[in-house]
Amino acid sequence: MLRDDELTTANILIEDSSIQKISKLPPSNRPDTKIDASRLIAIPGLIDVHVHLRDMELAHKETFETGTQAAAAGGFTTVLDMPNTKPPTINRDRLAEKISKAKGRIYSNVGFQAALVEDPAELRAMSKEGAIAFKLYLNKALETFDAADDNSLRKALDAARDARAMVTVHAEDGVAIHAIQEKSRAEGRGSVRDFLEAHKPEFEVSAVRRILELSKNHALRVHICHISTPEGVRLVRKNGIATCEATAHHLLANDRIFLKQGTRAICVPPIRREAYRRKLWSMFAKGWVDILASDHAPHTLEEKTKTNAWEAAPGLPGLETTLPVMHTQVARNAISLRRLVDATATLPAKIFGLHRKGRLAVGFDADIVLLDPKAKIKIEPSNFFSMAKYSPFAGMRCVGRAAYTIVNGSIVAEGGRIIGPAAGSIVRRTD
Ligand SMILES: [Zn+2]
Repeated sequence: MLRDDELTTANILIEDSSIQKISKLPPSNRPDTKIDASRLIAIPGLIDVHVHLRDMELAHKETFETGTQAAAAGGFTTVLDMPNTKPPTINRDRLAEKISKAKGRIYSNVGFQAALVEDPAELRAMSKEGAIAFKLYLNKALETFDAADDNSLRKALDAARDARAMVTVHAEDGVAIHAIQEKSRAEGRGSVRDFLEAHKPEFEVSAVRRILELSKNHALRVHICHISTPEGVRLVRKNGIATCEATAHHLLANDRIFLKQGTRAICVPPIRREAYRRKLWSMFAKGWVDILASDHAPHTLEEKTKTNAWEAAPGLPGLETTLPVMHTQVARNAISLRRLVDATATLPAKIFGLHRKGRLAVGFDADIVLLDPKAKIKIEPSNFFSMAKYSPFAGMRCVGRAAYTIVNGSIVAEGGRIIGPAAGSIVRRTD
C-alpha cells in the first residue's frame, strides 16, 4: 500500500464498510473474503468532484447505473454530480428528488452539487438537504440569476457565505462568448476553429479574475472547475484561499485532437494549444493545480457528431480513462504516485469536506482501489460502461488500471468488470 511517500506491505482489514486495522501481521480471525494484493498497490478510492451523471430526462445520455458503473470500473469510489440536469438541481425539492432517485442504483458513492441561487433561504435548505457545493455557471450554461450582473452575483455570493457553502465555478465569460458565437452563426460559419475562436483563453482568465475579485471580501471558498489556462492558475494561487481542478484532457491533449476527432472532441473550456497544455501540466505536477477531475460529461455520438460545431453537444466522458491515462504519466516518472493520489483522493476529500474519505487509515470508509501498476491496456470506448462511447484518448495505450474497486467494503469492480452490488451511498455535507 501507499503510505505517505512510500510503498509498504500491510494487511488491511475491512469490517462493516470501514477500515478496522492496518498491520504488518495478518488478522487473527479468518476473514470472510481475502484478496491477495501482493502484486498490487492499495490506494484510497478515487474521488471525482466533477461528474455529470445525467439520468432523469437525460437518461438517453447516461443514468445513475451506467455513470457509477463507469466510475467504479475506472477506480472512482465517490463522485459529485453536477446540477445542470433536466430538471436542474435548483431548489431543495429537486435535490431531494434526485437523491431519492439515485438511492439503490449507484455503484460508487454519489454526492450532489446544487446550483448557486440568490435566495439565501433556498440555498440554506439545499445545504441542509446535503448539497456539497454550489455551482456557478459564468458561461451561462445554467441561469438561476443574472450572473453577468455584479450586484446579482454579489447577492448570491453573500448567500453562499452565510450558508458557509463552497462555490464551484465554470469560469468562462459567457457574454463575450455568446457575442462571437451569434456573429459567427449569423455569417453562416460553424467550424471547430470558429468554436475555438469564441472560447478564447482570455475569456477564462477574465472570468477567473472577476469571480476571485468579487469573492474577496466574502471570506468565501471558491473552487474553479476545469481550469485550462496557466494565467488562470496563477490568479488562483495568488488568491490564497481559492482552489482549482484540471481535467486529464486539458492536461494531456492539445488542439491537434480536432484534426482527428472533429466536433466529437468539443468540450468547454475547449482543449487548448500545446503551449497551454505543457504549462498547465507543469503547474499540475507542482501541485499549483490542486486536484484532478474528469468533468465526465456524456452525450450520444449523434449529439457529438455534427457538421456545424455550434450544434455539437460539448462534453467528454472521463471516468474510465482518467486513471489509466494519468497513471501512464506515473509510469513515465512525469509525476509521482503520491501526487496522483493527492490530486484524485486526499485533496478532493479535504477541499470538499468529505469526512472519512481520501485516505487509507483506521476508521476511514473502506473505499479502496487495488491498483495494478503494470497492467497494459488500450482505451476502447466501445467497451465503456458509460453510454458515451467516445473519448479523446481512444486508441491510447496505457499502463496501470484499477484491478479491484472496493466501495464501502464491497468489491464492486474487478479487472474493469462490474462484479459487485450497487454498494454506493449518498454522500452528504455533514457539518
Ligand atoms: Zn462539467
